[in-house]
Amino acid sequence: MTIRLYNTLTREKDVFSPIDADNVRMYVCGPTVYDFAHIGNARPVIVFDVLYRLLRHVYGEAHVTYARNVTDVDDKINDRAVNDFPGVEPLKAIRALTEKTYTQFTADITELRTLTPTVEPRATETIAEMIALIDKLIAGGHAYAAEGHVLFAVGSMPDYGQLANRSLDEMLAGARVEVAPYKRDAMDFVLWKPSDPATEPGWNSPWGYGRPGWHLECSAMSWKHLGETFDIHGGGIDLVFPHHENEIAQSRCAHGTAVMARYWLHNGFLQVEGEKMSKSLGNFFTIRDLLNDWPGEVLRLAMLRSHYRQPIDFTVKSLEEARRTLDDWYWFASDAKGSGPAKAVIEALSDDLNTPKAIAELHGLRNAAQKAGGDMAHAEFVGSLRFLGFLGETAEAWAARRKAAAGINTAEVERLVALRLQARNARNFAESDRLRDVLAEMGVTLKDAKDARTGRLTTSWEVKG
Ligand code: AMP
Ligand code: ZN
Repeated sequence: MTIRLYNTLTREKDVFSPIDADNVRMYVCGPTVYDFAHIGNARPVIVFDVLYRLLRHVYGEAHVTYARNVTDVDDKINDRAVNDFPGVEPLKAIRALTEKTYTQFTADITELRTLTPTVEPRATETIAEMIALIDKLIAGGHAYAAEGHVLFAVGSMPDYGQLANRSLDEMLAGARVEVAPYKRDAMDFVLWKPSDPATEPGWNSPWGYGRPGWHLECSAMSWKHLGETFDIHGGGIDLVFPHHENEIAQSRCAHGTAVMARYWLHNGFLQVEGEKMSKSLGNFFTIRDLLNDWPGEVLRLAMLRSHYRQPIDFTVKSLEEARRTLDDWYWFASDAKGSGPAKAVIEALSDDLNTPKAIAELHGLRNAAQKAGGDMAHAEFVGSLRFLGFLGETAEAWAARRKAAAGINTAEVERLVALRLQARNARNFAESDRLRDVLAEMGVTLKDAKDARTGRLTTSWEVKG
């Protein structure tokens, strides 16, 4: 199976060929943990979860290493920690905040049916590697210390700007960079900065008590867990510049390598009801807010209906559509175990993670399964859904949730369903049709089936949105 991925570095859909097929390595920039993650943050989490599943399918579960970091030292974290834990020593305060936030994040994305990455490194546990990287950069003439800071010298790297596809001059013209007096070049960026021991978290280093710059964190964590060069690096499109450009500069210059990662993947942005999500516009949603109203699988399906590189407009309408689809899929799958995923679904995903195509294939399988002799299509339909992270609960649990949400009186429905079955068994079709209509008014659909063993008629029911 050939996988093709759009690579921001080459600006082409490249054939994916891992450095070592026995250990395919992927790094994705994870959350900065200081508050509940918003639904935009869920997009890279879900998109790269699908890629992780595809890689495991193609190369084998034991042969893929997925690292998604936790940024647990950062100025936003510190500001919040000072506020939430006044008087607490800075390192302890940020730890208390980031522990709590990371636990919330994990709970949220578990409901989105994402697999746990192989490693989730934390910046605060990778400080030694960061200091080692700075040492290498200074030794190689790529960084310099000035006034308690260490800066990366962009002029020391001839092809700086390759990922963003911009020259240094173009960047300078477009950037509003803070020109600190200790910088040799306006585009030089911070690797290490001084901390005030009383109010800011910090660590001892050859350049004084301080803390790392954000870009350095990812270079250190990917190096520690995936090596100097690895296969895939992912994140949101907003990270291309400066974050990923600077990660590349640090890692390549420190290790003397031609590439940091070979394939750079970026997901498009998510907006809500046609507008950029922002607290001031009142359209800002945390994952937790949405999980109060929608099952995680609905959010997941709504997300995957768009191709990952396209911008996505998250709307209530798109969530309702995803929910209706899942209601039908759960009902139709009815807890079957399923086979492996269908070839057509894997092919769609192998074409630069074409999830809209994969979903169209699922609809096709569902329809084929309904026709006579559709057993294999049914098995593949169910297997593909499970492969993509759906059907995480039983059809009954799913239906119960729907019934509760729709305000359905289950006891009353059960009574009417039983009465209708009685009427049907007595061949009183007028009465059984009347009861079916009464139930339909309540939003209840019926499915009759003959029990293969006893030959008796049974009826199950569903609430359709
Ligand atoms: P942050 O915690 O802000 O560093 O973001 C974590 C991840 O979420 C990064 O990969 C961002 O690119 C991504 N991200 C943030 N906002 C959005 C959004 N509105 N749509 C899609 N991805 C986003
Ligand atoms: Zn990063």
